[in-house]
Amino acid sequence: MTTANDYRNDIRPNWCPGCGHYGVQAAIADAVAALDISPENLAVISGIGCSSRIGGYFYTYGAHTTHGRALPYAQGVKLANQDLNVVCAGGDGDAFAIGMGHTIHAFKRNVNITYIVMDNHVYGLTKGQTSPRSDIGFVTKTSPHGSFESPLPICETAIASGATFVAQSYMVNRAELVELIKQGMQHEGFSFINVFSPCVTYNKRNSYDWFKEHLTSLSTVEGYDPTNRVQALQTLGAHEGLVTGLIYRDDTKPSFEKAMAAVNGGPHPRALVHDVVKPNADVF
Ligand code: SF4
Ligand code: MG
Repeated sequence: MTTANDYRNDIRPNWCPGCGHYGVQAAIADAVAALDISPENLAVISGIGCSSRIGGYFYTYGAHTTHGRALPYAQGVKLANQDLNVVCAGGDGDAFAIGMGHTIHAFKRNVNITYIVMDNHVYGLTKGQTSPRSDIGFVTKTSPHGSFESPLPICETAIASGATFVAQSYMVNRAELVELIKQGMQHEGFSFINVFSPCVTYNKRNSYDWFKEHLTSLSTVEGYDPTNRVQALQTLGAHEGLVTGLIYRDDTKPSFEKAMAAVNGGPHPRALVHDVVKPNADVF
């Protein structure tokens, strides 16, 4: 039986004391241990940013890739070795600014990986600039008069783009977050989990107290049904996106791998990748 300690290496995270990312790292370790995934069967792929350091803190396969490009890398890893469990991780700047083109296409493509975004509404590594998730009025080095832009409604965007598993959590709610990661990793298709993870150094606005005050758990919304797309979008709208729990799931859409195997008559996973560059004449 695997334990969370099996994923520890000798590298000490250099996140600031109090940074939310410690809790996300612990939750991922708890989830993969609970699923009894051994380190050699896991890859953690990350982009660039404070949160993207996370890949280096796991004793597993992994890659610390380039800014905004973790998802193409992670999807390639999965398609080349479909027996591997793949977790992709990064921050809101990495995922929803420079990486947003890849993120949208990953939502619709439905490759069977889990994407965990540590959302602190700011760029931390570059010392405090607005991100696509920053609130209106947020004063930073790049918005000295307060941000004029509204934050990107990322969970609504994910659902509208065809994502089949959309969840949101707060790293303080460890039990909920661990459960959502487990469910996401068991989901056959792309699972997206946006995790509020406060930056204590460069975002004094969206603090631990702020999240505690503003988040609503979907468990308190009467009759909430995560398979109901319209209800999911309406509920997000009613709470300005500040909900936690499993927001939406669709188990009817086949994963990218399954859809491709159906077209190709179910060959070995590696053959699927080769077929992309050598199209089947019957198909095209
Ligand atoms: Fe965490 Fe912010 Fe420090 Fe980066 S700057 S490690 S996000 S608290
Ligand atoms: Mg950030």
